[in-house]
Amino acid sequence: RMTGSIRVGGEEIVGASDATMRKIRGNDIAMIFQDPLTALHPFYTIGKQIVEAYRLHHKVDKKTARKRAIEMLELVGIPQPDRRVDDYPHQFSGGMRQRAMIAMSLVNDPKLLIADEPTTALDVTVQAQILDLIQELQKEFGSAIVMITHDLGVIAEVADNVLVMYGGRAVEKGACKEILTHPEMPYTWGLLGSVADVSGDISKPLVPIPGTPPSLLNPPTGCAFHPRCVHKDKVPDGRCNTDLPELRAGRSPHHMTRCHLPDPDAIYETEVKEVIG
Ligand code: SF4
Repeated sequence: RMTGSIRVGGEEIVGASDATMRKIRGNDIAMIFQDPLTALHPFYTIGKQIVEAYRLHHKVDKKTARKRAIEMLELVGIPQPDRRVDDYPHQFSGGMRQRAMIAMSLVNDPKLLIADEPTTALDVTVQAQILDLIQELQKEFGSAIVMITHDLGVIAEVADNVLVMYGGRAVEKGACKEILTHPEMPYTWGLLGSVADVSGDISKPLVPIPGTPPSLLNPPTGCAFHPRCVHKDKVPDGRCNTDLPELRAGRSPHHMTRCHLPDPDAIYETEVKEVIG
């Protein structure tokens, strides 16, 4: 069940009709999926899929839409786009398929692009190329991008603002640099502590977050992170187990955290910073 409010360009989309959503999807909002092989239709050529996405929102003939598809493939770096436009997804490499997916998502010049783990299914060198491409196209198209990722390296490279989610709720929110250099929430500390730092002391052990993520069907009471939190004893009266913290301003009005710790900054400076390096 979905509650709350999601506004896109001032328009409320929670509870919007199917017709309204069809108008918004692929036009105002587009999406890049994790695995382009499953997101692209295997029976249709790459070109046909881009043409269809374009014609759904523009009254143009097939020839004009095909020209636009070739332009988009060229823009995302597909070689010989006028020939490759007639290829099927299985004839493209993984990186090329993700480029084609990006071409399809941007063909209608969306205001918002949601990229769900767009580099996870790719090897490391192709990952870097795709991230560069997304950043270049973001500048060219001016679309806002919501990047969903578990990869803190990707966040450090591309994000302006970060929203850390845990158990289906936002638990920390702020400017990227602020979150990476002055995190205030124990879950964010745990995430940063479990990243391997190959440029630092490689003998230093990683510090994993104990336990496992909570079941969303039967979430824990109080703070959803409390069964795994090593700092909960610093909060008086066992409130972590019983009271859900509000998302409230931390170090600055723009840096928000959902945590009962009275002085997370002091704990970070004295206990955490050294460990997560
Ligand atoms: S509210 Fe309590 S359990 Fe949750 S992160 Fe903060 S200290 Fe840990």
